[in-house]
Amino acid sequence: MKYVRYEVEEAVASITLDRPQKANAQNEKMLDEIEECFTRAEMDDAVRVIVLRATGKHFSAGHDLDTSDPDAVQIREPDGTYRLDTMYRWEARKYFGYSWHWRNIPKPTIAAVQGKAIAGALNLIWPMDLIVAAENATFQDPVVLMAIGGVEYHGHAWELGARRAKDMLFTRRAIDAQEALHIGLVREVVAPDELWEKTDALAKDIATQNAFGLAQAKRAINQTLDVQGYYAALQSAFDIHHTGHGNAMSYTGHPILMELDEMKSELKKS
Ligand code: ZN
Repeated sequence: MKYVRYEVEEAVASITLDRPQKANAQNEKMLDEIEECFTRAEMDDAVRVIVLRATGKHFSAGHDLDTSDPDAVQIREPDGTYRLDTMYRWEARKYFGYSWHWRNIPKPTIAAVQGKAIAGALNLIWPMDLIVAAENATFQDPVVLMAIGGVEYHGHAWELGARRAKDMLFTRRAIDAQEALHIGLVREVVAPDELWEKTDALAKDIATQNAFGLAQAKRAINQTLDVQGYYAALQSAFDIHHTGHGNAMSYTGHPILMELDEMKSELKKS
């Protein structure tokens, strides 16, 4: 694997995003590798708990929008144009579909988050069962900048509550670790240099529990959310997300409305 590391130790599988020079921006190959790791961990009966973590300063800067990279997401048609049906199919599989798979793996999953977690990073974090945050962790989805209403796995209202989710999207502000702790988004806030160690200790403690009991506890809670409409709401928000891509294409032929350079400078400001 080129962008992700996979290790198993004492019933805990660690999946590590390892592209720190690009702030763990996700290209297509990286997403496929993450999916491959989660599938391995899911199928391995010796693994009881799965940790998702990242090397470097930031957890993830979101989707890698640099289409010149050979491993980039390539959804252009052979003639260089974009089409919504191709884009919808691709995102349904590799953004929403992968995230939904991870959310339903019948083993506890824990995200260890440091630095920035921006936009597409939330597609990785929201599906996890527990979140441990470093003191410098922030959670942000500024894609209204691109005339889009939020990322593909739009769990925001469920994770933050409706008003705070709107506030985050409208203002583009980042939710910091203390606020995340206050609202119950993260289970604990730790020093950045203790993040992996504390997360690993938590994972190993959970891994001493009965595997079937853990799976059924997770299923009971996931089912409780699903009967309240979690899955239907996510599907609906995914479709709304694509009106954003469709609208952008109708103006410029490109699925996001802002020029990349403009967006990068905005992101630096925020
Ligand atoms: Zn999208």
